[in-house]
Amino acid sequence: FKVPTPTNEPIYSYAPNTKERALLKDALVEARNKEIDIPMYIGSEEITTKNKVALRPPHDHKHVLGCFNYGDKSHVKQAIDAALAAKANWENLGWEHRAAIFLKAADLVATKYRYELNAATMLGQSKNAFQAEIDAACEFIDFLRFNVSYLADIYAQQPPVSPSGVWNRLEQRPLEGFIFALTPFNFTAIAGNLPASCALMGNVVVWKPADTQVYAANVIMKIFKEAGVPDGVINLIYADGPEVGEVIFNHPDFAGIHFTGSTAVFQHIWKTIGTNIHKYKSYPRIVGETGGKDFILVHPSADWKAASTGIVRGAFEYQGQKCSAASRSYIAKSLWPQMKEMMLKDIASFKMGPTEDFGNFINAVIDEKSFDKLAKYIDQAKADKNVEIICGGNYDKSVGYFIEPTIIVANDPKYTTMCEELFGPVLTIYVYEDKDFEKTLTLIDETSPYALTGAIFSQDRYAIELASDKLKNCAGNFYINDKCTGAVVGQQPFGGARGSGTNDKAGAMINLLRWVSPRTIKETF
Ligand code: GLU
Repeated sequence: FKVPTPTNEPIYSYAPNTKERALLKDALVEARNKEIDIPMYIGSEEITTKNKVALRPPHDHKHVLGCFNYGDKSHVKQAIDAALAAKANWENLGWEHRAAIFLKAADLVATKYRYELNAATMLGQSKNAFQAEIDAACEFIDFLRFNVSYLADIYAQQPPVSPSGVWNRLEQRPLEGFIFALTPFNFTAIAGNLPASCALMGNVVVWKPADTQVYAANVIMKIFKEAGVPDGVINLIYADGPEVGEVIFNHPDFAGIHFTGSTAVFQHIWKTIGTNIHKYKSYPRIVGETGGKDFILVHPSADWKAASTGIVRGAFEYQGQKCSAASRSYIAKSLWPQMKEMMLKDIASFKMGPTEDFGNFINAVIDEKSFDKLAKYIDQAKADKNVEIICGGNYDKSVGYFIEPTIIVANDPKYTTMCEELFGPVLTIYVYEDKDFEKTLTLIDETSPYALTGAIFSQDRYAIELASDKLKNCAGNFYINDKCTGAVVGQQPFGGARGSGTNDKAGAMINLLRWVSPRTIKETF
C-alpha cells in the first residue's frame, strides 16, 4: 500500500471577526459550563470512582470545570490486563488498518474536534488560542499523519541482498508486552502522540497523563475511540505516580516507556527499571524527553531586531513552559542597549490574563507548585545585588497563577537562574564582551547539563560555524537565526541528549523504530 503523503496542517489565526474565532469562543463557553465528570477508560469500560478530583483553569482556579476520577493500584492492574487481552488481535491486524485508524483520528481533530480540543487546552492548561492551535490541533495532526508515513517506510525496509536460493527478509514485530505512556501537561500534541505512536506500531498501551492535562486527554481519548482504536489498545488512567509506577515497573510484561516530563522523574524511573530488570521478559525500551535549559546566543554580527524578537518569543510564549523555551541568553555588549530597549518595549505591550480573552498573550503558569517555585527564584533575584531585574518581577495567585514576564540580568554567567531549569516566564541574560565570543561558547558548553534546544543569531558565517561546532553537544535542536522553540513535525525532528533525554526525536522515523522489535528471517529454497 502507498499511504497518503503528509503535509503540515495549516494554522488558523483566530483573528478578530473570523468564523474560526467565533467557533472557538462557542467551544470555550460550552467547555466552561459543562461540569464534566471525566472517567478512566480501561478496556471497554468507562470507570468512575469515589475519588473525584476537581479540574480548574490555572488562570481562574476558583472556577471548577468539572472533575476527573482518580484510580488506584487496582485500576493500573486492570488497565494492564485490558491491554494484554487486546494485544493479539491488535498486532495481527494488517498495518494498513492501524494506519487508517490514526489517519482518521487526524481528520477528526482537523474537522470535528479542533475547537473542542483547543478549548480544553486553553482552559485546562492555560494556553492562548494561538498556542493551543499550533499544539493541540496542528502538531497533533502532524504527528498522526507523518507517523503513518514513517510506518510505511519502516515496513518497506528490507535487507538489500538475498543471494540466489535464499530470501532474506525483515519482519517488524510489536514489542512483547505493554507500553507505558507517561505524558506532560505542556503539550496536548505530545500527550496524544506518546500513546498513539506506540499503538500505531502494533503495541498496546497504558497511558497516564499529568493530572494538570486530564481535560484535554479526555478529548483525545474520545477521538481515538471514534477513530476506531479498539477497546484495550490504549487505556487511560489517572492515579498517583508512585502507585502507578509500583504496579507498572514490577510487571513481567512491561515492555517500554514513552515519556515526556521532568529529568528527576525520568531518572527515578530508569533506576527502578534497572533494579527490576531481571523481572522482565525483554529489556524494556526507555524513551524520554526531559528537562532543558535552552539558550539563545547573540553574536556581535547579528540582526539585533530579529534576535530581540526571537528571544522574547522563545522565552515567553506559553509562559516559558515549553521544554524548548529560551531561559538563558548571551548577548554581545555592543548590541545590548538597543536590544534591551526593543525587548522591554515588546514585553510592555503584552497583556496578561485569562485565555478566554484573546488579547492576552501571557496566561497563567500551570499550578500553585510551579507558581511558588518561580516566585522563590524571583525573590532570590530581588534580594541579590549581583543581579538586576529589568522587567516583570511581580506575581499574584489570588485569581490565577500569574507571573509577569521577567528578565533577570546576571553579572555572573553561572548565577542560579542561568543554570537551573525554572520552567516559567523568567529569562536570565548575561551580557558578554564582544571579544569574548569564543570564551562564551566554552562557557555555554560547560554550563549545559541539559541539551535540548539552542540558537545563535549571527550574520558571520565563521561565527556560525564555530558555534555550531563548539556547541554540537549542547542542543538536539539547534537554530541558526531563529528562536529555539516551535519545532515542526516533518521539518525539525525534536529531542535532545545529556539531561534532556534519549534524543529519540518525536515526529521522526527513529522514534517509531523504538516501538518495534525486528525479526530477521532467512529462508533457504
Ligand atoms: N516541540 C516543542 C518545541 O519545539 C517543545 C516540546 C516540549 O516542550 O516538550 O517548541
